[in-house]
Amino acid sequence: MSQDAEATADGAVPDHDLDAVFQRQRQASRRIAASDLEARQESLGRLRGMVTDNRSAIAEAISQDFGNRSRDETDMLEVVPTLGAIRYARRKLAGWMKPQRRHVDLAFQPASAWVRHEPLGVVGIIAPWNYPLLLALSPLVDALAAGNRVMVKPSELAPRFADLLQRLIAERFDPEQVAVVIGGVEAAQRFSSLPFDHLLFTGSTAVGRKVMQAAAENLTPVTLELGGKSPAIVCPDYPLDKAASSIAFGKFLNAGQTCIAPDYALVPNDKIAAFAEAVMASARRAYPAIAGNDDYSAIIGDRHYQRLRDAVETVRSEGATVLSHEDTGADSGRKIGPTVVFGAAPESLLMTEEIFGPVLPIVGYDSLDDAIRYVAARDRPLALYCFSDDKSAQAKVLDGTMSGGVTLNGTLLHVAQDSLPFGGVGTSGMGAYHGFDGFRRLSHVRSVYKVGAFNVFERLGPPWGKLAGMASRLLSRR
Ligand code: NAD
Repeated sequence: MSQDAEATADGAVPDHDLDAVFQRQRQASRRIAASDLEARQESLGRLRGMVTDNRSAIAEAISQDFGNRSRDETDMLEVVPTLGAIRYARRKLAGWMKPQRRHVDLAFQPASAWVRHEPLGVVGIIAPWNYPLLLALSPLVDALAAGNRVMVKPSELAPRFADLLQRLIAERFDPEQVAVVIGGVEAAQRFSSLPFDHLLFTGSTAVGRKVMQAAAENLTPVTLELGGKSPAIVCPDYPLDKAASSIAFGKFLNAGQTCIAPDYALVPNDKIAAFAEAVMASARRAYPAIAGNDDYSAIIGDRHYQRLRDAVETVRSEGATVLSHEDTGADSGRKIGPTVVFGAAPESLLMTEEIFGPVLPIVGYDSLDDAIRYVAARDRPLALYCFSDDKSAQAKVLDGTMSGGVTLNGTLLHVAQDSLPFGGVGTSGMGAYHGFDGFRRLSHVRSVYKVGAFNVFERLGPPWGKLAGMASRLLSRR
């Protein structure tokens, strides 16, 4: 690591040096030619080493931030996918970086055309707390694969992890290449107003609006990975128990604090009660106890804990049916057991706002068309789940709705495919990353056109004459 005036003795970046770090990265990105394949592979390899060498420290810090989060869950849902993204990028990078030849129309021959994927420069990444490793490092993998310099701002709601990440990155990367900036909302606001060459934000839709406003001042392009209410549609043909256990799996991992968790389930009206029981049975099998069970996550902070409890109590007091696994009470260390609700008022918070907790409302429908209309009438969700073995029902749901991504007959798994773009649409976000789509998103796709032995266009005129007239008629007639 180079000796950096703005860095402390151990290389960490103090948060008051935000502008200085940015300027250093920016100047370096303008001064030094784009990094080659070998340098990018080396950076990705270093990142892999950082994660593999610190698996248990990472899981421990995240668990402490949550109050409890299963080490296995962190390993399976954060460490393994991060390493997978690194492995995939390293394997594919040489092919992605090759210039891509493009077609040249007969009218412009002889000539050639191609595109080059070039680093944008300095990329900013703002990450949330719910999967703090994956959602900071997965965009970082794409940004490094694309040859960028990167500043990362982790969430202040996961402070132990943020400190750890800052230290680990500073031990392995020159702050001119990658730097982690720590701080609360004020630091985040200052961060989002830096004139990055691209800003990738993962978080809530409300904050996403502010980030986009701040970025607009600098004409900084943004990728917004936001949230929303992701529906799970259980079609009439699908075995209820199977759908219930998939939905319970996707909903109760990390106690529902997953951006693509099924937010609510749409179920045929005559199957609501049976479905609710099946979800609870599945939750009890996965988590026989809640309070002392290390496998079951706590809610990240008091504000979110209270928000979720209030939302459930409100619909209960209004007459909704609430099934709960175990009343963990106030001494549970901010744990809320798996909860299923039906009969909640359409205008309740539970039915209008992203839940982001272990509470699953069920909405009944008469026909599949009604379920599709329900989804299509609302904001476009980040994820959609459809359970059916009937291809025409699957096609009907896919054609009649829109969402960032879809898993059919399961939950969450589309996000784990490095070959698929991941992102939202409408209020659930804009722009997608992961794998080649992330590499491309964080590259400048630069067009190059090379004139061949002679330039027909320059021979046609001016002065415009017969030759130009003939060429114009010929080219328009094709
Ligand atoms: P959040 O929007 O409150 O915070 C996210 C980040 O933004 C944090 O680092 C925070 O410091 C920063 N921030 C806060 N105020 C800011 C401001 N005014 N300007 C700039 N940055 C600011 O979100 P959260 O509570 O950390 O995460 C939960 C939300 O994130 C949910 O809505 C969830 O659906 C969404 N999410 C989306 C994805 C995805 O991939 N689409 C993944 C995880 C979470």
